[in-house]
Amino acid sequence: MSGGSVYDGKMWQWVNYPVTCSRYFQQRHRDPAWEQHSPLLVLSKQTAALHFPQTKQVQAKKVKESKLDPDLVTVAVDLNVKNLAVITVRQHQHIMETLFVTDHGLDQQRYRHLKRIAKKQWLSGKPVAGERSNQQLWRHVRRMNADAAHQVAHRIAAVCAKYPGCVLLFERLRKIKPQGASTSRRMNRKQANQLRGKINQAAREQAYALGVVTAETNAHGTSQYCSRCGARGERFSIRGGVRIAEKWGKLFRCPVCHYEANADHNASVNVHHSFYQEWHWQPRRKCSG
Ligand SMILES: [Zn+2]
Repeated sequence: MSGGSVYDGKMWQWVNYPVTCSRYFQQRHRDPAWEQHSPLLVLSKQTAALHFPQTKQVQAKKVKESKLDPDLVTVAVDLNVKNLAVITVRQHQHIMETLFVTDHGLDQQRYRHLKRIAKKQWLSGKPVAGERSNQQLWRHVRRMNADAAHQVAHRIAAVCAKYPGCVLLFERLRKIKPQGASTSRRMNRKQANQLRGKINQAAREQAYALGVVTAETNAHGTSQYCSRCGARGERFSIRGGVRIAEKWGKLFRCPVCHYEANADHNASVNVHHSFYQEWHWQPRRKCSG
């Protein structure tokens, strides 16, 4: 639709307005499960907007109930920087599916933009966010993040849709510390953190519309412990054919069972362990006396 009857205080008039609706709005409009409610006119000082509420009855079990189901499927998501999301699907203590959603160079691109912003700031001596010529670049960076969040959330929801009745698992978001020598590197880390928050939020919403509930798990140790045997392992990288142990290494190695894996994949599998409170994620027994 592109118009509406408007009451200006004296009479009703038919007025044509340009109406834009999102792809998602249109999708929901076609889906009979979504109930369309009568539009709501929202007036503010300068603008008037028509809101079209859409609701859907969502049948979702409580997580506690689901946890007792021996056939429960859990979909765990580990959110990172280069691997924006590593999605693993588990049933009957077995990982059935793994999906890596990479950032397609987003982190590098964003870093380059932020470097330009930081350099301009340094040259002009003005604050980063306020400078005019930088505003366009900032807008671009924010849009890049928003687009990526939407796309990744969509991929996560698509996996959930394959397993009706599953529970979506995220670990409690821990901040990746904005470290690094340069301003641009720190700004880029901050943006990466914001992106992870956006993905988490959008994925929860999209999953909930499918009737999938989200549970938050304890993040402690998911990247340090072995997803095969539960022992404490180490992360490392291979550079020039040499294995270098480092905190943020791309690979994970277990000294006990000698399991080696992509560190983000290992972390994603551990999110399931954390949810089921297996191994060291067991609730601590209270000391008696
Ligand atoms: Zn192990």
